[in-house]
Amino acid sequence: MKIYNSLTDKIEEFKPITPGKVTMYVCGPTVYNYVHIGNMRPVITFDMVYNYLKYLGYDVTYASNFTDVNPKIIAAAKELGITEREVADKFIKAYLDDLASYNCGEIDYRPRVIEHMEDIYNFIQALIDKDMAYEVDGDVYFRVSKVNDYGILSNQNIEELKSGARVEVDDKKENPLDFALWRKTDDGEQFASPWGLGIPGWHTECVVMINSLFGSKIDIHGGGVDLKFPHHENEIAQSMALNNNHLANYWMHNGHINVDGEKMSKSLGNFILAKDFIKEHEANVVKIAMFKTHYRLPLNFTDEVFNEAKVLNEKIMNVLKQANLQIQLEGLEVGKVKRDENIEKIMDEDFNTPNLITYLLDLVKDLNNALRKKEEFCSIYDKIGLVNQILGLKYDLLVMSDEDKKLYSEWLEYRNNKDFAKADELRNILVNKGIL
Ligand SMILES: [Zn+2]
Repeated sequence: MKIYNSLTDKIEEFKPITPGKVTMYVCGPTVYNYVHIGNMRPVITFDMVYNYLKYLGYDVTYASNFTDVNPKIIAAAKELGITEREVADKFIKAYLDDLASYNCGEIDYRPRVIEHMEDIYNFIQALIDKDMAYEVDGDVYFRVSKVNDYGILSNQNIEELKSGARVEVDDKKENPLDFALWRKTDDGEQFASPWGLGIPGWHTECVVMINSLFGSKIDIHGGGVDLKFPHHENEIAQSMALNNNHLANYWMHNGHINVDGEKMSKSLGNFILAKDFIKEHEANVVKIAMFKTHYRLPLNFTDEVFNEAKVLNEKIMNVLKQANLQIQLEGLEVGKVKRDENIEKIMDEDFNTPNLITYLLDLVKDLNNALRKKEEFCSIYDKIGLVNQILGLKYDLLVMSDEDKKLYSEWLEYRNNKDFAKADELRNILVNKGIL
């Protein structure tokens, strides 16, 4: 399998650290308000990556965090008149509700910063001991100039960064690019660190959670492309300083979502909350719409994209419904096909979901034809099931009771005998039951 590695800007053969096992971490939300649909793209993308790795037979451990210690949470607590912990709990719950309504699968770990405060102190102290960080008046800063390949992920060198990036002027820092690992504060929630009261820096929180859960290096680190700099760059810098590695062997970044040609963001105000969006669109439709664009490319959210996705979703649903009916009436055996080399050919090329959707359409066409011609269709049905499982598409198919089966065969009999009045009566019952 090949993955586009943002660290090297190359498509590379995927080789896990431990054969057969994969460790994966994706930056999760800062839980200070509701997430918008743009925030759902990394969730849905890395769910698919997780599903595909599992399909290939890897033993995958996937963690995505909650950033629950952050200045944004302190600000929200003040605004809402509740504590920081209440803010975090409220929006963690809201986020988990969102995941459920988008049919996003379970993952292995959802660590919270608050559970790792001791680890954070130890991590920062280790950097100070190595002279890679320094304390000034209750703040602790990372010494960027000590890391040789700083800028490797965002392809910038220190000089370019100094002149190009908007870096805050801070007299306390030795170098304007140095970033805070710990920040002194007397405002809102504070933690008693060896350097006094304060809160940890966001870039440190993620590295510490990764190190605590997995050790010094993981296979895949993911997130939205907007996190490349400074967040991921600074995660890498700390890992280089402490463990002499780039934290992950493969860095993966999904593109952002555009609305009318502009990036969807909280600051631009052109966002739609995930919880509102799902009231208008089914989870399957959102996923199909996303997967029709490769995960690395920006995604345009237009009515056209959604209408197309809706039509496709209905096509899949209809054919699966018909096939499911035959499977149950005839007691056919399905679920025998566990792998499909066509799927692998497509997905092994850096998760080419647009081509997988095209393949899915072909399978739907084949299944329709096989049903019409009354040909054997179980292997096609199984392959559709495999694609759906990888893409996280869920179709609730009816399980027929014995009574349902009897009604169905009676309806067929009346129809064959041209007793249309009776056939229509039964047909209505079957339609009401969702069978036809
Ligand atoms: Zn992160």
